[in-house]
Amino acid sequence: MATEPETEFQAQPASPRMNRKKSRKSTSKRVARISASAVVACACIGVVVADRAAAPRFSLSFSPSTNTVRAQLSPGFGPFAQIVFHFTSLVVHIDGGAMAQGANHGETAVGQIPSGKSTVIQASAAGPFLGLRHWQRTLTPPEQPKIESSTLSTTTDTLRFNIPLSSARVIAGLPGIAAESTETLTLRRPLSKTALAQVYLVAKDGERSTVSVKVPPVEAAPIVYFGASSGRRIYITMDDGWYRDSGVLALMKQYHVPITTFLIEDAAAQDPQFWRQFIAAGGTIEDHTVSHPALTKVSPKTAEQQWAGPMSVFSKWFQQTPTLGRPPYGDVNRTVQSAATAAGLHAIVMWSASMDSSNATKGLWTWNGGALKPGEIILLHWQPGAASELRQILSLCRNNNLVPAPLLSGLPTGDG
Ligand SMILES: [Zn+2]
Repeated sequence: MATEPETEFQAQPASPRMNRKKSRKSTSKRVARISASAVVACACIGVVVADRAAAPRFSLSFSPSTNTVRAQLSPGFGPFAQIVFHFTSLVVHIDGGAMAQGANHGETAVGQIPSGKSTVIQASAAGPFLGLRHWQRTLTPPEQPKIESSTLSTTTDTLRFNIPLSSARVIAGLPGIAAESTETLTLRRPLSKTALAQVYLVAKDGERSTVSVKVPPVEAAPIVYFGASSGRRIYITMDDGWYRDSGVLALMKQYHVPITTFLIEDAAAQDPQFWRQFIAAGGTIEDHTVSHPALTKVSPKTAEQQWAGPMSVFSKWFQQTPTLGRPPYGDVNRTVQSAATAAGLHAIVMWSASMDSSNATKGLWTWNGGALKPGEIILLHWQPGAASELRQILSLCRNNNLVPAPLLSGLPTGDG
């Protein structure tokens, strides 16, 4: 596109019958008709051997970088060139419509033509030594790269282009790209709100363009408060992990209780072996962030890193990669949900019932103050007294004919 120089076209008479001699005659007549001042010019022209070299020159240039067509008359040569030029007018049409008119004096007619499509440019000029002349050219500027389609995944937006690219670059609005090929560009969706990205495209054939694209934020990981209630299932979860209670492991083994721990990475690091025993006892480990911050109070990027940390570390330590996350303090908003998706989690799991850790005698708190029902997700903490709290829950389950089940088995987003 901008790499090639502007193209200039030779002026060519369109009418074959207009030979040199005739042209001169008709030109003189025409000049005489134009205005009184032209008579003076004609008088001069009449006594001097008319010189065709005085006829204005027509040129048409095309700038591929802007798709601009520029039609122009410029004075010919010789003593009469300027005066002849003065009495010549130019009219230019693009695909039949008026582009611009240079009335006299070689004014430039400028117009825009579309990319990737043939456009006919017709120019006419009338004046002394020129007669009435027509030029016609067809221009086909190469196609500019543009977005043909956009495909969203939960975390990315893949743009497909109309023509093969040699490169694509995000110049504003988004931090960077996830993947690039000659036909597509994959952008990472932002964490909080829709971004307006500017992307600079260079086609294989050299055509360039800057396109704007609205990139919607990462999909929010769903928030779950209840699991499936069929089979009178309930789901026992335990949070944190700073305190480790082998009494809990003993109960798990004795009663075959599946428990899901939302484990803090920093807490897990103190004793990975204990958590391997927890898994061996039928436990599942999920994500409770690296260091337990209130996620709505940190940056979206930090929230994503807080979710992502345990996912990579636990998969190494425990050969289990979390798919569920629980935000510390239950502190969650749309950005925290998006950060969870961006990290690779499938859902955020809250709870519908919990043991009142400040006052164990109060027993179980439920979301509606009623009795524990199938489908409820119970929250306990790894803290002193955890084994006795678990025992209370198990006794409640027995009395109400409820069946503790693995959390993943009760969630549509889970793997189980
Ligand atoms: Zn916690």
